[in-house]
Amino acid sequence: MSEDDTFEGLAATITEGYHAVQEATCLEDVYDLLDYLGDEVKHYYPHIACKVNCPVCCKGMHQPMITAAEFELILFYLTELPDVIQDEVVRRARYYVSMYRDALILQHNLVNNPDKYAGQDLGGLYKTLTQSFRETSCPFLVVDRCGIYPVRPAKCRMQGNSLAKVGDDVRFNSCLPEISSMDQYLREKGSRRLTMPLWNVFEQVVTLFNPKESMVATLPVWLITHVVGDKLTDEVNPNPSVNL
Ligand code: SF4
Ligand code: SF4
Repeated sequence: MSEDDTFEGLAATITEGYHAVQEATCLEDVYDLLDYLGDEVKHYYPHIACKVNCPVCCKGMHQPMITAAEFELILFYLTELPDVIQDEVVRRARYYVSMYRDALILQHNLVNNPDKYAGQDLGGLYKTLTQSFRETSCPFLVVDRCGIYPVRPAKCRMQGNSLAKVGDDVRFNSCLPEISSMDQYLREKGSRRLTMPLWNVFEQVVTLFNPKESMVATLPVWLITHVVGDKLTDEVNPNPSVNL
């Protein structure tokens, strides 16, 4: 049996996953499927180092842009938590937005209104963002652990165990140390073939659960636009006390 044959089981599981996700009736179904596929991938690639308290991909520019439907689940989860934790979430959101306001606006517009930057040096703008966010962490990262693990977004679930198509390139969707460790593994194996689910397929399905035309945004932006007074609310506050 060749090396590649041993991955046929995983390839078949992923194909089934592509079919199953089209039948998903709620985001939770998608999340369950992603967790299952992530475990399968790690079973076939046991050297992948992702674990619960591994936070590099929760920092800097790695932090996810998420949809309204995903934030709704997070908000529901948060509002069930004790007041003291909600207060801390509000405090973190305010701090984040006051520190990184300009970078957040640029990032938000680049993703939601890219036409505005037609003809500009996009590579340069993304470099600026990477630099601006280099010291940041997701507001939900608590002592190197995800504070909203049961409702973490789809992107977080697929980090480290999926591929992502960007333009014409298909890349391993992971942090730099893992990309280089995978590169070494493939070199030793003598094959460049990587059998992993493609994030873009699941991203499309996640988007389908959203109201039409709704934005995607980073967690600090979602949070700050759902604070009224000092409390989290399920209504959108268009004039948060730290203006965006
Ligand atoms: S992708 Fe990298 S930083 Fe993220 S969990 Fe996996 S090993 Fe850790
Ligand atoms: S939601 Fe959790 S897993 Fe995702 S970036 Fe934030 S802390 Fe990390």
